[in-house]
Amino acid sequence: MPDSNVRIIDAPTAQGRPNESPAAVAQYSVPDDRAATLAIHGGLWPDPTTGAILTPIYQSTTFRQEAVGKHKGYTYSRQANPTVEALERNLGALEGALQAAAFATGLAALSTLFLAVLRSGDRVVLSNVIYGGTVRLLRRVLERFGVACVLADTTSEAALRAALQEPTRLVLVESPGNPTLVLTDLAMAARVAHEAGALIAVDNTLLTPVLQRPLDLGADLVVYSTTKYIEGHNATVGGALLTRDADLLERLKFVRNATGCPQSPLEAWLTLRGVKTLPLRMARHSATAHCVAEWLASHPRVTWIAYPGLASFPQADLARRQQRAGGGMIAFEIDGGAERVMAAVRLCALAENLGAVESLVTHPATMTHGSCTAEERRQMGVSDGLIRLSVGLEDADAIIADLAQALAA
Ligand code: PLP
Repeated sequence: MPDSNVRIIDAPTAQGRPNESPAAVAQYSVPDDRAATLAIHGGLWPDPTTGAILTPIYQSTTFRQEAVGKHKGYTYSRQANPTVEALERNLGALEGALQAAAFATGLAALSTLFLAVLRSGDRVVLSNVIYGGTVRLLRRVLERFGVACVLADTTSEAALRAALQEPTRLVLVESPGNPTLVLTDLAMAARVAHEAGALIAVDNTLLTPVLQRPLDLGADLVVYSTTKYIEGHNATVGGALLTRDADLLERLKFVRNATGCPQSPLEAWLTLRGVKTLPLRMARHSATAHCVAEWLASHPRVTWIAYPGLASFPQADLARRQQRAGGGMIAFEIDGGAERVMAAVRLCALAENLGAVESLVTHPATMTHGSCTAEERRQMGVSDGLIRLSVGLEDADAIIADLAQALAA
């Protein structure tokens, strides 16, 4: 039996759907040391029909209705699906939020967020170090519909206040920012955004609810690309939005259904399986990344390194206050020849993506931020020589040996 302090969502009611009232879900806000239990049990129960311990994959487009207007809560899988809802309850439990809204990709989650909260004429302020696809979506797609997008240095309270001088609907912050890992003080950003009358969303993809809890720091919404650590095995693409505001959640789900970008049952099931080991994986990613970062920091060819767990990290105090560990991402520059090094790795793979069990190196200038303009990349500190390393779950000494031979190549 699960610990009685851990609120597992009620088993399905006679109508076939669980009790999801905000009052019931509010009890999900649990102490830190419950993450391991919640990841495995939160919002989940054995299949009532067969006792199967894992939620089945309800691979069905539609659901038989008993009479017109009488059904078990599911009608069509674009609108809702039992496996996808299991993932949504599980993520909500882990985040201390209402049931999540799960999406086909992280960018589908971001698109839905923008379409749900913005109107023509609105303004969005974004961290100026942020995933390139987020900038592309706002600048190349939504600006055509009259949405203005302003990049601001959200690490500085003064710069954020200055950017919010003009009326702003939404502030979107990424911390650590992808790819240079610069941190924004989320409590400060939430306070400043709310004083300006804006909503604040935090893209927490790089840390997950296991290492950082934006809602507890004042954010209105949390965004995930579940493609990364949450699923964690390089097997799916997916996204999620989480909030404690029931009206906002309803609007997000309405837009998701209207635009047709929900997560699919199979991907949801794979993601659910990934979440079970998320707390273990995040601890191990962080421990291994710390070793690798220390080794890189002392390597003669490394001219700059960012890892939030290092004592030498310029925002180490904020990292200690805001994050439970440094996470699995490292950014570094070397004394020239970054492309040769990235081509020379053997155990690590040169690939897009991050947050999975395999260690990956990425060249942000041409990959994750290739769709940004040269000026946007300059503002973000994305130089041509920047290497982003997503430290996987291999042995630390094996990753270090691979980097050593690549740096010597
Ligand atoms: N947010 C962050 C921080 C990301 O790194 C990414 C993808 O790299 C996304 C969002 C977009 O997610 P997806 O690739 O699942 O659409």
